[in-house]
Amino acid sequence: MKSIVPRIAALAVASAFIASLPAHAADGTAPRAENRYLSQVDAAARSARVSNVDYALQFALTGKETFSGVTNVSFDLADTDSALTIDLDKATINSLTVNGKVVTPQYNQWFITLAPQDLVKGRNTVVVNYTRLHSTNGEGLHRMVDPADGKVYTYSHFEPAAAHQMFALFDQPDLKATYQITVTAPSDWTVISAKRETSVTQEGEFKRWTFPATKKLSPYNFSMHAGPYKMWEDSSGKYPMRLFARQSVAAQIQPDLWFRYTKGGLAFFDEYFGVPYQWEKYDQVLVPDFLYGAMENSAAITFAEGGFLHSEAMTTAQSQSLAGVIMHEMAHQWFGDLVTMKWWNGLWLNESFASFMGTLGTAESTEFKNEWQQFYSSGKQQAYAADQRVTTHPIEVAVPSTANAFDNIDAITYSKGASTLMQLRHLLGADVFRQGVHNYLVKYAYKNATLDDFIGSLGEAAHRDLAPWTQQWLYQAGVDSIEAKYSCTGGKIAGFTLHQSATAALPTLREQRVQVGVFKLVDGKLALANKVAVTYQGENTAVPELDGAACPDLVYPNYEDWGFVKVLLDPHSFATAQKNLSKVDDPLLRSMLWQSQWDGVRDGRLPLNEFLTTVMTNLPAEHDYTLLGDVLRKVASSKDYLDKMAPTSAYNRKTTAALEKITYAGMLANAADSNFQRRWFAAYLDVADSKPALAKLAAILDGKEKIKGLNVSQDQRWAIIATLNRHDYAGSAALIDAELARDKSDSGQAAAVGAKAGRPDPAVKAEWLATIADVQTKVPFSRVRKAMENLYPARQAALGELTAAQRLAQLPALDKAAGPVFMRSYGPSMIPASCTPASVQRLSDVDAQDHELSTGARRSLQVAHQEDARCVTIKQAMTVSLR
Ligand SMILES: [Zn+2]
Repeated sequence: MKSIVPRIAALAVASAFIASLPAHAADGTAPRAENRYLSQVDAAARSARVSNVDYALQFALTGKETFSGVTNVSFDLADTDSALTIDLDKATINSLTVNGKVVTPQYNQWFITLAPQDLVKGRNTVVVNYTRLHSTNGEGLHRMVDPADGKVYTYSHFEPAAAHQMFALFDQPDLKATYQITVTAPSDWTVISAKRETSVTQEGEFKRWTFPATKKLSPYNFSMHAGPYKMWEDSSGKYPMRLFARQSVAAQIQPDLWFRYTKGGLAFFDEYFGVPYQWEKYDQVLVPDFLYGAMENSAAITFAEGGFLHSEAMTTAQSQSLAGVIMHEMAHQWFGDLVTMKWWNGLWLNESFASFMGTLGTAESTEFKNEWQQFYSSGKQQAYAADQRVTTHPIEVAVPSTANAFDNIDAITYSKGASTLMQLRHLLGADVFRQGVHNYLVKYAYKNATLDDFIGSLGEAAHRDLAPWTQQWLYQAGVDSIEAKYSCTGGKIAGFTLHQSATAALPTLREQRVQVGVFKLVDGKLALANKVAVTYQGENTAVPELDGAACPDLVYPNYEDWGFVKVLLDPHSFATAQKNLSKVDDPLLRSMLWQSQWDGVRDGRLPLNEFLTTVMTNLPAEHDYTLLGDVLRKVASSKDYLDKMAPTSAYNRKTTAALEKITYAGMLANAADSNFQRRWFAAYLDVADSKPALAKLAAILDGKEKIKGLNVSQDQRWAIIATLNRHDYAGSAALIDAELARDKSDSGQAAAVGAKAGRPDPAVKAEWLATIADVQTKVPFSRVRKAMENLYPARQAALGELTAAQRLAQLPALDKAAGPVFMRSYGPSMIPASCTPASVQRLSDVDAQDHELSTGARRSLQVAHQEDARCVTIKQAMTVSLR
């Protein structure tokens, strides 16, 4: 069969960037820039010369702050025309041997430069013997001392390019290699890596763990975790499974759930991809201080404790989140680990695909059949919001260096990308899509691939040129809108058109396949009368199938959520939706109608007070668990808006009292269902603000008030304490110390940091501001991050004003000194936004000044600016007095 492989689109967009490649790479002598990052140009030059890489790695771990290692790397080198660099971050090199000869290291703390005369064309061997501090920033080989029992735990985290914080290597994804490791560690430790060990032998007070060589992996997918971890095992599936966590938190794990989802997922993915799981065993490790949610290290996946440890049985929402993350990381074992992007510009596809497959895998292989509804109300809404900001960007963008690897890792890359893949699946058909994915995995297994390779495989399976689609969807930013336009005569539709529109700034219209749903009010219910699948493009697409159908009460043009598109309800449908929200049976449609209301608020088209009236009427009747969570999040955001725009107004007080009443009643009414009850309780904590509500919380904490059915676990206790402190409830500060005396765990200490930082006390804010601004601080980053997240809650905008100038002034220096991982937390939580025209202007002024901010920091500033302006717009749209 003849097929068209669409390459033109990618080249057209990337050419400006690629044009700079040959000049640098061809002369071969341009030295690598002396900094901690690796540029794409330097990486490409290196992988053009280096191949067949094998590492033999030795690590000596004692549990102390320092570890030592030996990297023995063998590789083929195409030429000796110029020097070659090997990455190794901040180590003390004890000896360096190149092809058997001891040489003096030329080392700048970021990489070693090997002189051409020491290298040979063909096979080379380099041995680096070094010592290094364990990291405490969550990258490299992180070390943590458990405050509960003094035990030491380590784990590795490398993405995007932090493997060289642990050993010497070519730290780039397209230099795949084998890794054979030997580890000596304290006798009571377990060592976990990409393979199972072949032997463990006693050596004095240590044990030596020996592992066989791995199959080929990109460095960021390799891992090694070691510590006295508690282990659970399950061998009931096709692949042996293990689960690990710190000893002191073992009681907070439900291993049966982990194994059930994991086993189901492995069976599903084996079948879906048509390529069996390649890494033989499946280990999952819960680790402390983790920077992200989870990481897909080959066969030794790491998970953030924060997201997955719970002091009582998990709620359905928590289990669903766990299942979703397990599936996401599992999908990466094929798409990411087996076939890997060539460079970090491909990271989005890696993440989009895992998000898409993770959602599909959860929906198909677990009890969470509504996972796509969950995706709609969480990830997809974040993507819509991000895509409508000034900072939006195409899904595929150039990544000049590892400094920028995570710049674009946001809701656009994860959730818009995943939605785009879902849309493509609807466009091509589910079977064709799956066939294309299978072909891609087979063709590029153990290799690196690009976007063109992926789209090429899908296009071949579909016998279709996907170049125009790729151009519209992946290289152009922005979300389009659709609106149904129709008229009725004699109670029947006479002419029905889908109208597509884009913004002036991002005018691309797209091809898209959606379903139009047409509804009638029947016996007090909104019932589906008709649904029609339509592939539309351009401005107007007629839908003749609907001509002559009964005139509808509501039209939803993206029924069942096939498309990535903003739905503008026609005025008649909007009014029907507003009045009849609780009369829609389908929870996904109901979610979408709620969302239309909320979009109206955020766009300044619907007064927030009207939305809150809709909430008061419809929320108490909401019985879909997922949607209830979704609406309660919107309620919490509404409360934040009110607190920012008018903290002491009579309207805020009155609304808060009503929300307190509804959420408290929800808590009482659901004594028999802890899922619903805990959801209502969390909402009560979000909105509680009045003296009586805070007094109730204090009484629940000290046991004077008992809510039937509610278990006040350790997690709940800290949540109450945080709320009381945020409002400076009498005696609340002392509660933190008292609770710390009861709960000496790591999570308890973190919760205490959050509760204390949230206190409306200028001295507390000043103390934390100093710590945050000190890049040399000994406080672990996980704690600094926790403080930042809690330091300036919406209600404390006036207090925030006192330090606003300081926080903005230190932005450029911190950006430079602390780097992108730090700024990903600082940006969203520490840039001041007070919901006043003056605050909006202040952000605008700072943005206009040339501070040489990094891309990430600049984006955070612009997001803060736009969201602050939005808050002012929402305030102006209110139709009640805010005095
Ligand atoms: Zn991922």
